[in-house]
Amino acid sequence: MIGITILGATGSIGVSTLDVVSRHRDRYRVVALTANTEVDRLYQQCMTCRPQYAAMADEASAQRLRQRLDQAGAAVEVLSGVDGLKQVATLDSADYVMAAIVGAAGLLPTLAAAHAGKRILLANKEALVMSGAIFMDGVRRGNARLFPIDSEHNAIFQCMPPDFSRGLAEVGVRRIFLTASGGPFRTRAIDTLDSVTPAQACAHPNWVMGRKISVDSATMMNKGLEVIEACWLFDTMPENVQVVLHPQSVVHSLVEYADGSVLAQLGSPDMRTPIAHALAWPERIASGVTPLNLFDVARLDFEEPDMARFPCLGLAYQAMDQGGTATAILNAANEVAVQAFLAGSIAFTSIPVVIEQTLGAVGARSVDSLDVVLEDDAAARSHALSLVRRDNGRIAL
Ligand code: NAD
Ligand code: MG
Repeated sequence: MIGITILGATGSIGVSTLDVVSRHRDRYRVVALTANTEVDRLYQQCMTCRPQYAAMADEASAQRLRQRLDQAGAAVEVLSGVDGLKQVATLDSADYVMAAIVGAAGLLPTLAAAHAGKRILLANKEALVMSGAIFMDGVRRGNARLFPIDSEHNAIFQCMPPDFSRGLAEVGVRRIFLTASGGPFRTRAIDTLDSVTPAQACAHPNWVMGRKISVDSATMMNKGLEVIEACWLFDTMPENVQVVLHPQSVVHSLVEYADGSVLAQLGSPDMRTPIAHALAWPERIASGVTPLNLFDVARLDFEEPDMARFPCLGLAYQAMDQGGTATAILNAANEVAVQAFLAGSIAFTSIPVVIEQTLGAVGARSVDSLDVVLEDDAAARSHALSLVRRDNGRIAL
C-alpha cells in the first residue's frame, strides 16, 4: 500500500485526488489531509478516509476539527500551523505528497516534502515561481521525485523522453508548446474588461478550478506562471517555450524534436487524468475521466496570444528576464491583486497595474537563500496591499 498525504485536500485538486484514490483503495491509503479553515469539509473527508493525521492552517480551526472528530470517535490526530503542515508532508508513512495548497502558503510544506525525499505530485506552481532554484535544489538534495500535476506540464512530461533530465538539447528536444485556452475573455471587447465581475472571471469555458487560478486564467497570468514553472521543471529558457492559444483545451501541450516530430498529449479537460498519471507512473490506472470523443471535438484551433489583451503574460516574461526574486515579487503582487479583485475592491484591469507597480517599486535581488525570497514576498505583498487600499477601485498607470 502506498501512503499519501494530500496538502490542500478540500480544494479542487484535493477533491479530484481523493476521487481517483477512492477508485483504487487496494493501492493507495490516505495518511494525512490538510486544509486552510474549511472545518466541515475536512471533517467529512476525515470521516470517509480515516487518515492518521489532519492539519489545519490555524489552531482555532484545528481545535474545532479535533472536537468534532473526538465526538464522532474518529482516531485522527489534528495538527495546526506551518509546523503541522510540514510534519504531515514528511511523515514516514507518506510515500507520496500531493502539493495542492494554492499560492505561497504551499511553499514551506512542499519544500519539506522535497527535503524528506518524497514523491511529490506538484500542483502548487507558485512554489516553483517563488523559489525555483531553491526548490529544485531541495528536490535534488533530498532525492525526491517531482511529477507535474498542472495539465500542461504533465502533458509535456508525458511527451518527453524518459531521460530528459540529461538536458533537452542532449535528448533532441527543440521546443515546448504550452497551450492556453485564453480563458473566458479571449474574444471579449478589450474596452469592456474593466467592468467584468468575479463570477464572470471564474466562469472558465473548459475547466472547473479554484477561484484564484480561474482569475489567473482569465488574465493569462496563469500561463505566465506556467512558462516559469516549465523552465524550472524541464531546465530550459523562456525562449524555448512557445505559448499557444488553443480554445478547445483538448491538446494539453506539445514537445517538438530536432527531427521535426511534434508529440502532443490529448484528453478531456479533467484534472483526474494528470493526477492518475502522476499517482501510477510508470503504470496507468483508471481515473474516471470521460474518454475523449474526437468526433465531438471535430476541430482543433491554434492562435498566437495577443499581448495587448493579456498584459499579465508580458509582466511574467519581464520578471523572468529580471530573474532573482522578481518572479516571487510578481507572484506575491498577483496573489494580493487577485484577492482584491475577488473581494470586489479593484477592477479586473487593475490587476496588471498593481503587479507592474509592485515590480517597479520592490527591487529584485539575487536568490541566495529562502529568507531573501520570503522577505521580498512580504515586501511585495505589503506594497501591493497599499496600492489596492489607496485607490479602492481604479489605479492609474
Ligand atoms: P482551491 O482554492 O480549490 O484549493 C486550495 C486548497 O489549499 C484548499 O484545500 C485550501 O484549504 C488550501 N489552502 C488555501 N490557503 C491555505 C493556507 N494559507 N494554508 C494552508 N492551506 C491553504 O485551489 P485549486 O484550484 O485546487 O489549486 C491548488 C493548486 O493547484 C494551485 O497552486 C493551482 O495553481 C494548482 N492547479 C490547479 C488546477 C485546477 O484545475 N484546479 C490546475 C492546475 C494547477
Ligand atoms: Mg495549467
